[in-house]
Amino acid sequence: MSFTTEPTTQAKLYCVNHPQTETLLRCNKCGRPMCLRCVQRTPVGYRCKECLGEQRAGYYTATPFDYALASVIGVVLGGVSAFVMLLLNFGFFSIIIAIFAGPFAGGIISEVIRRLCGKRRGRYLGLATCAAITFGALAILFLPALLSQGRLGVTLLNLGFWIFLALALSTTFARLRA
Ligand SMILES: [Zn+2]
Ligand SMILES: [Zn+2]
Repeated sequence: MSFTTEPTTQAKLYCVNHPQTETLLRCNKCGRPMCLRCVQRTPVGYRCKECLGEQRAGYYTATPFDYALASVIGVVLGGVSAFVMLLLNFGFFSIIIAIFAGPFAGGIISEVIRRLCGKRRGRYLGLATCAAITFGALAILFLPALLSQGRLGVTLLNLGFWIFLALALSTTFARLRA
């Protein structure tokens, strides 16, 4: 059953959110009549936004501690992997390394976080982790350059590093996205 319709001979239904809008649809969880603007088609039929919200809230179980953990791990592993990547600065060759190392690092970081968080999911867990990795990686990139002054231009032109970071982030985000 994909959605519930009422025979047209019965009393007309009006959307609970839009009393002027006639509708034939009902949310198949709470049963309230809804217009097309107010329901979303899901694999289990039409659902209103409230019911979808409840469903998602039950789905995302990550705790604030999970977020803190993911952030710390993101900063540390993001920094460590960026450090290794910067050591492997062989000009053009580092771009080729980055293409492999980026997804690899992202895979490891997301897997570590996943296990430590007991596989709980969080709506913003991927985003928080990516922000943490970026922070850790940029700290490693900029700190030595700032300390030794004048090398910043060289550092910023390290294309392998940016490709590495972009791939590590996209992999982490894809894996941690709920
Ligand atoms: Zn509903
Ligand atoms: Zn409506």
